[in-house]
Amino acid sequence: MLIAGNWKMFRGPDPASLAGLDAVICPPFTRLRDCVAAGLTTYAQNVHWEPEGAYTGEISAPLLLELGVAGSLVGHSERRQYFGETDETVAKRTRAALDAGLRVIACVGETPEERERGETEDVLRRQLSVLEPHDDLVLAYEPVWAIGTGLTATPETAQETHAFIKSLLDVPVLYGGSVKADNAAGLFAQADVDGALVGGASLDVDSFRAICETAARIPS
Ligand code: PEP
Repeated sequence: MLIAGNWKMFRGPDPASLAGLDAVICPPFTRLRDCVAAGLTTYAQNVHWEPEGAYTGEISAPLLLELGVAGSLVGHSERRQYFGETDETVAKRTRAALDAGLRVIACVGETPEERERGETEDVLRRQLSVLEPHDDLVLAYEPVWAIGTGLTATPETAQETHAFIKSLLDVPVLYGGSVKADNAAGLFAQADVDGALVGGASLDVDSFRAICETAARIPS
């Protein structure tokens, strides 16, 4: 089980309060150094495909590695929704990060409109078509209608969708979308749910710790 906490553009808790936790932390850029210094497995929230260059506001894999960062999220739905991220740029970011030696959590998932139109599998097929299996690649299935909304996919829906994803790309798949301490156990009990990408609940140390403890109780 892999549990990752995405702090988004929030300052987040004191990294020292998470010491010893078996989890990945994805803080905003300004807190990467503090998280690394606290001994946490630290991922960025984004990474560019070029090693350096005139790309204002972006960050590269070598610069992250220099800081002790171990990996990066790629293609979070908020990047796709608000910052023009496409399947092509997700592929470029993922490939460059993996080649440079970073681990990657690549995010996929359908919008509410796509789900209502019955397009979930087509969307996932399209999003996954640009990615290739790699030992350091993990996917996060994050239905956009479940992110930050309090709506969670049922464990059965998560299982069914994760199995579909793995039939296309055989790598571990995390579930993301309003995962909380009180719904984590049902999700983690599913055979093809390999962990969680946690947004809101990762900002609260007690909630995040409870989710990590629930994951630790699942036999591997
Ligand atoms: C996320 O940010 O990836 C996420 C799943 O957020 P939340 O847990 O708040 O829905």
